[in-house]
Amino acid sequence: MLTTDEIPLSTTAERQVVTTESGAAPEKDWVIVTRGLKRDYDMGGEIVHALRGVDIAIRRNEYVAIMGPSGSGKSTLMNLIGCLDTPNAGEYWLAGELVSDKDEDELARVRNREIGFVFQTFKATEALERVQLGDRVQHRPNELSGGQRQRVAIARALVNQPAILLADEPTGNLDSTTSEEIMRVFEGLAEQGQTVIMVTHEADIAAHARRVILLRDGLVASDEKRSTFIKAAGIAPPDLTKKT
Ligand code: ADP
Repeated sequence: MLTTDEIPLSTTAERQVVTTESGAAPEKDWVIVTRGLKRDYDMGGEIVHALRGVDIAIRRNEYVAIMGPSGSGKSTLMNLIGCLDTPNAGEYWLAGELVSDKDEDELARVRNREIGFVFQTFKATEALERVQLGDRVQHRPNELSGGQRQRVAIARALVNQPAILLADEPTGNLDSTTSEEIMRVFEGLAEQGQTVIMVTHEADIAAHARRVILLRDGLVASDEKRSTFIKAAGIAPPDLTKKT
């Protein structure tokens, strides 16, 4: 018999919220609900189906990793969840609001209020360069370590008390010790009740989250509790008890 921890989410409340209430506002407890989310890209006449009907339901206070191989649709889904882009079809409910059919201005308002972004550190540098603060980064290259910079980014992302902290490959260019450190920061935030969603292509990193959603070819291939994911992936469970 399966223990509660091992019941696949596809047989539980998460699944029901997605499949049985199409068109209806989810209850307040559900911070993210996507139903049949699709995103196509038009590559000069050739259509790329990046997301082909993604169903996800995430409760407040969850700590979720979205993972999958390159090209599986992680960035596309992250852009939609982060209100940076709109789907071609399907529903996206964020904190009780239907955001999938909002216009750009409304979307920006929701994004500023509800989402705290953490990017790879080099992407943060790119962003600074875009607002012409790049030379500041150049002037103080060694003052902050990669880990410290990422902690600053996390703190900044939390300033407006967003409904979700959305981290895109947050350990992408960090060494493994520093990556572990950042994972402990997320665990601490999750313990305090912050909803954390991180996108990663690394199983070792995903294994730190309490739930792992695996994308493949633009669809949810599996959606499991951490322990089940670790067993299925055949990796060693991370030590979450080490202190920084
Ligand atoms: P991942 O983040 O998992 O690597 P993506 O979401 O970046 O996956 O890509 C999913 C699919 O959509 C891939 O086939 C990719 O080539 C395609 N794709 C992503 N962004 C664009 C874009 N702006 N224009 C055209 N195709 C895109």
